[in-house]
Amino acid sequence: MTAIPKLRNMSEMKLDWKRAVAMILLIVLAFDLMPNDTASVMQAQENDDRHTNHVGFPAVYPPPEEPPETPPFILPFKGPAGPSTWFLGQPYGNTVGAFILRDMFYTAGQGLHFGIDFAAPCGTEVVAIGDGVVVEIDTHGSAPHSLIIDHANGYTSLYGHLLERPDLEIGQVVRQGEAIAFSGDIFETCRSAPHLHLEIRSNFHDRTYNPVPLLDADWENLNLIGGFGRGYQRDLDSPRQWQTLGDQPIIFLGGPLLNNYERTWPPPQGEWRER
Ligand SMILES: [Zn+2]
Repeated sequence: MTAIPKLRNMSEMKLDWKRAVAMILLIVLAFDLMPNDTASVMQAQENDDRHTNHVGFPAVYPPPEEPPETPPFILPFKGPAGPSTWFLGQPYGNTVGAFILRDMFYTAGQGLHFGIDFAAPCGTEVVAIGDGVVVEIDTHGSAPHSLIIDHANGYTSLYGHLLERPDLEIGQVVRQGEAIAFSGDIFETCRSAPHLHLEIRSNFHDRTYNPVPLLDADWENLNLIGGFGRGYQRDLDSPRQWQTLGDQPIIFLGGPLLNNYERTWPPPQGEWRER
């Protein structure tokens, strides 16, 4: 009879400790982010004390299944798109490129491209898509350098294939539109595939979202200029599924492949043949 209440007390103590840390953090953040309403959003979310995110920051409930009506974020570049600045490369989701590599590079993303690629020369300035806190630098792949910003609305943004380690500190508050990094090249030549890989994840890093409805941009025109994407893979048993920029699924990281289509177009790439 006595052991059970004891255990309960211990877990309550743990919870209080976490809550105290979260509250201190929240106060610091609140001062820094005022008069922006981000602080009040975080306050509201903190009242729902079930979770802290993977680095212990107060996080929030999972973002809504449907994106908010007004896109909360901006594009990760300041200047306009164009052939010598930046343009849409590979979109998010059910792309032909991801299908080809579905059981290799994209397995973790259910076989889909779990971010959006913007082609840009090495050294193009990257800006924060929203107010937030720097939570990770160089820990989440997307070589050679990467950065994650935790936003107060339940989303995090990941900036991948950066040219150099961003000159930021963990816990640093950044503002929407603030320069945070320089774009690079996955192969570090600045000639092979220079681009920024932008991902929008939940604060818990268990799923990624299509950035298109979340970023305030003229996507239709951007799509005319782009890119190095080869269009979308078709499931011939459901040929209209996931064929546009806007219509792409939420990806659960580590979930089963979504694109092991039985009948598909373009046809699967051939197997390696020993000669
Ligand atoms: Zn990418």
